[in-house]
Amino acid sequence: MRITGYKSHGVGAAAALVNAVTSRDGDDGDEALRAVLGEHGFFVQRFTPATAAELRPWARTLRSFFEAESLDAAVALLNGLLADVPMHPHVADHDELGLHVHYAPPEVDLAHRVRATTLMNLAELLCDHGIDRIGVCAAADCDRVYADDSRGGRRRFCSDACANRTNVAAYRARRRQPT
Ligand SMILES: [Zn+2]
Ligand SMILES: [Zn+2]
Repeated sequence: MRITGYKSHGVGAAAALVNAVTSRDGDDGDEALRAVLGEHGFFVQRFTPATAAELRPWARTLRSFFEAESLDAAVALLNGLLADVPMHPHVADHDELGLHVHYAPPEVDLAHRVRATTLMNLAELLCDHGIDRIGVCAAADCDRVYADDSRGGRRRFCSDACANRTNVAAYRARRRQPT
């Protein structure tokens, strides 16, 4: 099931939550966080202000994963979090989604499901690709994070806008150089 262009919606949700809560231009209001989850494949009928209050510290925690400077640091961070978030993997079939795996125990609240899913999907990304696929946007004035599970895996920017802006600036800088 590809909803957002990510193989696993927890990867996209993790980056979007981190950006909403921790980046300079982010919006961490209740409605904004609800929209982030909705856009990344979570059912948000049970989203409440308490959900948002739990997701803000979670997003700040996940930011350190995107900023990890070594594979060892990223692994240690994830393993610490995996030990803290109770899991109970099970196969589910609801809302005509087809069979899929839930990581959190049944009947936990939405924030717990988000913690479990983002952690497991980030762990899978790390096992497949190491830390080459996560990072902070390479644009000079941007502090947003990205995760890349595309086949090529060459992403260095949070968005096409940042990539284009940086490329145009580099082009102009080259043209200014005396020949
Ligand atoms: Zn489900
Ligand atoms: Zn950016």
